[in-house]
Formats: sequence, structure tokens, C-alpha cells
Amino acid sequence: MTTTDGTDRAHAAAFAKLAPGLATGAYVAGEWRDSFDGSTIEVVDPSSGEVLTSVANGTVEDARAALDAAAAALPGFAATPPRVRAEMLRRAFELMTERHEELSRLVVLENGKTLADARGEVSYAAEFFRWFSEEAVRNTGEVMTAPSGANRILVTHQPIGVAALVTPWNFPAAMLTRKIGPALAAGCTVVCKPASETPLTALSIAKILAEAGVPGGVVNVVASNRSSAFVGAWLADERVRKLSFTGSTEVGRVLLRAAATNVVSCSMELGGNAPFVVFADADLDAAVAGAMVAKMRNGGEACTAANRFYVEAPVAGEFSARLADAMGRLAMGPGLADGVDLGPLVNRSSRDKVAELVEGARADGAHALVGGEAPGGSGFFYPATVLADVEPGSTILSNEIFGPVAPVVAFGSESEAVELANASPFGLASYLYTRDLAKGLRVAEALETGMVGLNRGLVSDPAAPFGGTKQSGLGREGGHEGMLEFLEAKYIATSW
Ligand code: NAP
Repeated sequence: MTTTDGTDRAHAAAFAKLAPGLATGAYVAGEWRDSFDGSTIEVVDPSSGEVLTSVANGTVEDARAALDAAAAALPGFAATPPRVRAEMLRRAFELMTERHEELSRLVVLENGKTLADARGEVSYAAEFFRWFSEEAVRNTGEVMTAPSGANRILVTHQPIGVAALVTPWNFPAAMLTRKIGPALAAGCTVVCKPASETPLTALSIAKILAEAGVPGGVVNVVASNRSSAFVGAWLADERVRKLSFTGSTEVGRVLLRAAATNVVSCSMELGGNAPFVVFADADLDAAVAGAMVAKMRNGGEACTAANRFYVEAPVAGEFSARLADAMGRLAMGPGLADGVDLGPLVNRSSRDKVAELVEGARADGAHALVGGEAPGGSGFFYPATVLADVEPGSTILSNEIFGPVAPVVAFGSESEAVELANASPFGLASYLYTRDLAKGLRVAEALETGMVGLNRGLVSDPAAPFGGTKQSGLGREGGHEGMLEFLEAKYIATSW
């Protein structure tokens, strides 16, 4: 592991360049304003721990104002022709593409990820606007004759209503566009609360949507670190008919309970604990390359991140050594510095949690082939780490690591691999490598996850249904399914 010396000065200069015109207010009813009590949230650069700027910190009154605006805009927007809504999303895609570099740098500054990761995220995020601009004009229904022959069954899909969107800090652009895209395509209006760590990207996206012609009140974005009261105010109001949340399972559970009061439809994209299974017949070069993507995209701070590596015993040593070699060659430093492959974690508590999990695994008998010690100095860095000889019962395997650490466990048979992989309450993504296609498909079917990467370390695609089983969530985002989450089926029984 090498450490690249990126200076705080470079970050400050990058921020100063971005700062003119940077959106830092609350975006409500098409206007930028301060929060009702004038309070703010400081946004910190994770590579230095320094404050970059501050944004309006929404109160419960701001939450209500945003909801009033979204409710007022709903009838007009729901009645807007799908083609017109599609053109707004298409224009937003084009504007995001034009501002790709500027947005990517902003993501690095507030989130800490590397510029390469941020560029990848912004492209992915913009694609949701493009994909859902195409889906907006494909809101199809059904007509059929009832089995009795007595009447016809007509099914149409109508916008569900005002949607509350709550997003995490790890993909500050993509997690928001993955919700706003389908909501607007469906004809819904939205109130959005981005994570307090990374509000700047969300506010910039609000600005882009306004420039793309989205009418005031259709999209409202307010940051707030009074999350519980703020989102609670939305869920307590009968006008909110949809909650789309991405974040931890713990918070998801709290919100599901709150949503029960008004029986609000919930889409939940929650935590993961992805297994990465390598069979002895796998192409090991491909498996290591896939592991580097599945583990290290976003520095491991991804819900789809490979968290547990199960490798068939005959190749476990070789796979671990090759993975350690690849991990050891990554340069760690501030995300905007040249040549950096691994940025800091988002905050101190995330870094400390990763360090604690590694120590726990060591206490259980694991040893680090590379990494395993947090460096001193400023910023929330943790090095790329490979742990060998991890006990199958070790705590690190049952926790979402959310950092650049790969614990490796050897297994003996296909059934054991499936059993180990499925021994988790989470079921978001899984990965498997084998040259035997029949085995690959058989194991893919047996894995209890919503998504499987078969000889691939990346599953995310705006055109595919993203989502989890078990405690990883409810519903799907992206693909054809994404817009359905914001539509209500209406059945009309008729005869003619
Ligand atoms: P988090 O703590 O659950 O926060 C997510 C969002 O919920 C933030 O906007 C947060 O606001 C808000 N929030 C927190 N507590 C709340 C409460 N009591 N009531 C209402 N809102 C509340 O998650 P995170 O740490 O930001 O993100 C990491 C987690 O997200 C991981 O578990 C990861 O696996 C998951 N994730 C899942 C997916 C997926 O698609 N399945 C994608 C990305 C991430 P504040 O920031 O103001 O606290």
C-alpha cells in the first residue's frame, strides 16, 4: 500500500473553483431559501476532516413547506403529458452529462471517494434520468376478458402521489436520481432528504432539474440532520403516499414502522452482506479482477460490496495471495489527488468501525496478508486489507464492513459454499466465479439474494431491477420495475 500525498490546499482550491453558484439552500417550491430557524449543517471533507461549507438544515416546518409544495404541484404534474415529462428527464440527463466533471469533483469533496469512482457514479446517476425518460412513455396497461366472459378487465397505472425520498451518503448522486427519475416518469411529485454528510450533490441535482424545466414544487430537496423528526413529519401526513428509502436496515425498520400509521407504500433499499464465491475451476485472473471491483468500488462503501469471500480450498491460498497483491498495489490518498485508487472513509466513526472489525477477526485467529492498520494523520483513511484464515463464525462475516477489507474463508463443497453464502439475514447481492456454466446457474438460483454477479464483479445497471431479498429490502429500482414502484394499478370492471 502506498500513500499519495494530496494536500489540503489542492482540495481547498478545487472547492473554491466549484463554489461560485454552489447550491447550499433548501430547494422548496422552485425557490432557494434558508431553513426556518436559519440553522445549517457543516459539510466536511473526509480526506482532511476540514469543513468545506455549510447548507441549510431543514426543520419540521421546512419539511411541511416542501410537502405543501409537492402536494400543490401534484395534480398539474400528474396530468402533464408523459412525453413532456420524458423530455424534462432527458434534458436533466444532458445537463448532468455536460457538468459531469464538476459534479464528480463535488462528489469527491463531500464523500471522499476517488475521482474515478465519482466519475463512474455520476455517469451511472445520469443514466437513470436517461433510462426513465425512455420509460416515462411506456406506462402500459392491460385489457382482458374476465374468465366468466361477463365483462372486461381494464388495468391502468396512475401516479401514486407525493413521494418522500430519503437517500444515503455513499452514492450521493445515483441514489437520488434512481428515485427521482422513476418518480417523475410516473407523474409523481417528490420531497427529498439527502444524507447530512453529502447534501451538496443532491442540491446540485435539484438545480439541474430546475434548469431542465421541471416546474417548481415537483422536486423539493431539503437537507436536515434532524432526520427522525423531519422524515417523521412527512410520514405523519396523509398526503405522502410513497416512501422510497435507501440506507441501513436499522433505519429502514424504524421507517417501516412509522409508515405503517398511514399505510404508506414503501420501497426499501437496505444494507447488504454480499458473499463472493470462487470455485476451484474459476478463471482466477478474472475472479481477482472481479473481486477488486466488487470489493473496492467506492472503497468498499457500497451496499453491493463483496463482504465475505468464500474460496474453494484448493485455490484459497492462491486467490488470497493474488488478491493481496492487487490490493497492496492501490495508492491511498485524497480522492482528487493524482494516481489515487483508494480515498478515505466517509467519517471517523466509519473508519473506527472498520478497524474494530479487523481487530475482532484477528482475535478470532485471522491474519492480514496486506493492510490491517489505520494510518496516523488527518482524514479518515483505512488501507486495503486482505484477511486470511478467517473463522466462518467470525463477527466480521456477519457485519456489513463498509470498508476496504476482504475476509477470506476456505470451503470444501458446493453445498457448503451455498450454505455459508446464505447464512445471513441480508440478501442484496452475491457473486460467483466458475467456468462451469451449469454449476454457475445452479448456484446462482440457490443464492438467496436479489442480484447475482455470475463471473462479474459489478451488477448495477439502470436497465436492470436492483434490489434485495430478506432484510436487504422491499421493491426494485431501475429496470422496468423501477417506475412501477411509483404507480398504483387501477382496475376498471366494464362491459360493452
Ligand atoms: P442511514 O444511516 O440509514 O441513513 C440513510 C438516510 O436516512 C440518511 O438520509 C439519514 O439522514 C436518514 N436517517 C437516518 N436516521 C433516520 C431516522 N431515524 N429517521 C429518518 N431518516 C433517518 O444509512 P447511511 O449510513 O447513510 O448509508 C449506509 C447504508 O445504506 C448501508 O447499510 C448500505 O448498505 C445502505 N445502502 C443500501 C443501498 C441499496 O440499494 N440497498 C444503496 C446504498 C446504501 P442523516 O444523514 O441526516 O442521518
